[in-house]
Amino acid sequence: MEEIKLNNLYTVEITGMNHEGQGVGHIDGYIVFVDGVMPGEQVKIRLTTAKKSYGKGEVVEIISKSPYRITPFCSAFGKCGGCSLQHISYKEQLNIKTDMVRETLKRIGGIENILVHDTIGMDKPLNYRNKAQYPVGVENGKSVIGFYEARSHKIVGSDSCDIQDPLSIEIRETFKQFIDKYNISIYDEETGKGLVRHIMVRTGFKTGEIMVVIVVNGTSLPYANEFIKEITSKVNGIKSIILNINTKNTNVILGEKNIVLYGDGFITDYIGSYKFEISPLSFFQVNPVQTEVLYQKALDFAGLTGRETVFDLYCGIGTISLFLSQKAAKVYGVEVVEDAVKDARRNAEINGITNVEFFAGEAEKLIPEMYSREIKADVVVVDPPRKGCDEKLLNTLIEMEPSRIVYVSCNPSTLARDLKYLCSSGKYVAVEAQPVDMFPWTMHVECVTLMSKVEK
Ligand code: SAH
Repeated sequence: MEEIKLNNLYTVEITGMNHEGQGVGHIDGYIVFVDGVMPGEQVKIRLTTAKKSYGKGEVVEIISKSPYRITPFCSAFGKCGGCSLQHISYKEQLNIKTDMVRETLKRIGGIENILVHDTIGMDKPLNYRNKAQYPVGVENGKSVIGFYEARSHKIVGSDSCDIQDPLSIEIRETFKQFIDKYNISIYDEETGKGLVRHIMVRTGFKTGEIMVVIVVNGTSLPYANEFIKEITSKVNGIKSIILNINTKNTNVILGEKNIVLYGDGFITDYIGSYKFEISPLSFFQVNPVQTEVLYQKALDFAGLTGRETVFDLYCGIGTISLFLSQKAAKVYGVEVVEDAVKDARRNAEINGITNVEFFAGEAEKLIPEMYSREIKADVVVVDPPRKGCDEKLLNTLIEMEPSRIVYVSCNPSTLARDLKYLCSSGKYVAVEAQPVDMFPWTMHVECVTLMSKVEK
């Protein structure tokens, strides 16, 4: 048995990847996580963390390289916390994601008899994000706007980011010049003092409309008109500029209150043939190209004939609901963020869709209530945040017995847990899962899964 000691050097075989995109290896059964490596590699590491149950190592030497290793395209790779897989060929990333889904369903969910399809990737996996959130801070006495380092709040001020829309970088730089010129104060997380916290840019890929959100610890932005003049003359397509108020000492980026400084306070974009109005606080998928692929899969898995009543739970601004409405008799959408529900109603209206209805509230509260009033669904689609579904909701679904449950998930671990719960009722089987790559170069994976009711 090798002795496990901090700062010692070890040779390890990398056999897998964890959810953070770190390679996984073992020193005599002791598990270690290593950044910037991949399965199939043998590496020499220095142990930088030695906890009882796991360690972390940094690479000293790559002894044998994987054939899938490539040169990262970004100079901030290894520092910036955004992409962790840039050293792996895109095709291999897709294989790793498929394996991750299959393994997680098996390990956490005990689900083996499921068809896991190959991850659907992008033809051009660059500049795919329609939303950028840049933290504003001070490093070495100078203002800096960029990205957080991995697992830290230190800001990396990289000049470019090839997964973002290039215009968002130009907007960010113009904003930096503005705060420097007018000496606008910058928020300090430690003291809770200072004004500017984040700048968020959202772009409608099909419409070219841009929303700029400036997050402040205060109620106004000095010289705001100068910024508006500057940015609107420099960048085409600016449709809305919004001041978001966040005075809490928290990691949550956006506060609840918005003040519109310029424009109508929203942008529009299309997914497929549907038009959507998006406001600052509403969730909207960040990769619009792959969103269309994902929603089409969800619609296929729903297997609708036009006669069904469908629930779209965690519906955001009603995107999936509108997709489902074309083949359903009636769609009920449920979403907790009030602004998103307003957007959802408005989106149904501007698309001329009349067979959808939206409710604001928690799915785990509203669905049991609706069910007790005998509002039932033949097919249910859920698309929860990372923490997955509440058991109260799953219990109601089990009682309600829809013929299909389509689970759209951005976190394979909670997906596996929830599928296990549904299967353990004896009423459902997990039939097939389709991972879709919404976040190339990162370890995130989106997956849509079909659960079918067991025929008695
Ligand atoms: N289906 C949408 C949104 C998915 S993101 C789309 O594809 O765009 C998950 C959504 O769940 C977010 O809009 C979030 O506000 C909402 N949400 C989070 N917890 C919820 C809960 N308990 N009940 C209902 N909605 C919830």
